[in-house]
Amino acid sequence: MFGRSRLLFAILVLASATAFKPATPPRQRSAILISWDGALREHVNDCLKRNQMPNLAQLTQEGRMVDIDVSGHTTDTKAGHAQMLTGYDSNLTGVSSNTRFQPIPRGYSIFERLQESFGKKGIATIMVTGKAMGLGPGAPRISAEAETPSPLSDEPSDEDGRQARRAEKIRLAGEQNVSGQPFYLVKGSLTAWDGDRPRDASKVGQKVLALIDKFGPKGRFFLFVHFGDADVAGHKYGEASREYNDALVSLDAWLGRIVVELKTDGFYDHTAIYLTADHGFDVGTTHHNNATHIFLASNDPLLISAGEQKDVVPTVLQAMGVDISKIAPVLPGKSLRQKE
Ligand SMILES: [Zn+2]
Repeated sequence: MFGRSRLLFAILVLASATAFKPATPPRQRSAILISWDGALREHVNDCLKRNQMPNLAQLTQEGRMVDIDVSGHTTDTKAGHAQMLTGYDSNLTGVSSNTRFQPIPRGYSIFERLQESFGKKGIATIMVTGKAMGLGPGAPRISAEAETPSPLSDEPSDEDGRQARRAEKIRLAGEQNVSGQPFYLVKGSLTAWDGDRPRDASKVGQKVLALIDKFGPKGRFFLFVHFGDADVAGHKYGEASREYNDALVSLDAWLGRIVVELKTDGFYDHTAIYLTADHGFDVGTTHHNNATHIFLASNDPLLISAGEQKDVVPTVLQAMGVDISKIAPVLPGKSLRQKE
């Protein structure tokens, strides 16, 4: 009998951990924002119709999936993630495409907004990526040459001359990374960063499971994870290929693994999951030049409205209990959640 009651207890514990509880006060929630690089909305919807994405189906059964569109910037990795993770247009982030970018200014990222609201000790901010290039934290590649003051002279250093020589080197090299990659200034503010090399979902996913185990017991966390697999397959084989479809299906399996980890650890009831993409894919091609169709899916049932990519940040911040009306500069987007 003892064995049976223990079994019953285990079943009850699991059952209580099987759903996100929207009644959790926003300031007690954790959140995971997942980016499926290059996931075209229509293709994802087709996968759902073919029952190839059981985990996304389950997530949206608890919550919802809404259409969002990319507007106002190039549909590529750098510009998409800069907007997804700041809520700003490229005039404020300085990131307008993979080749025209600068470091996102300090304080503008969703990670820093959360720290500002709850304190660095009040929430762990974590970023894991599968692509070093598009979400890079790299410093400028060409630095101004080191100062070498002549021992015979105490003349002030020739700053203008050094800058001019640097500008010439940049011009000659055709260098695009003039002042640093988009996440150059963001990286240092994070509690944990893991994203300096390209890698597939199996590597990225394992990192995420380990990070959930590490930070979940410590309190609130906001974890951003980027999976590059669908984009890589799309560029190589095309949007209509089996490989692109397989990549998306494998990302759904990783969504499932993440949910199971949260449930097993007992964090799922207070962890909202948001799933989106940086850009879609041009139908039947190997590129995403005009790929504005993406989505936002969540286990959060208060997610109700369709919108735009710039709405992701206000949506997530509001779900976490941040007063988005106090943010400066004013966020151009809006929360897609029903008021609670
Ligand atoms: Zn791409």
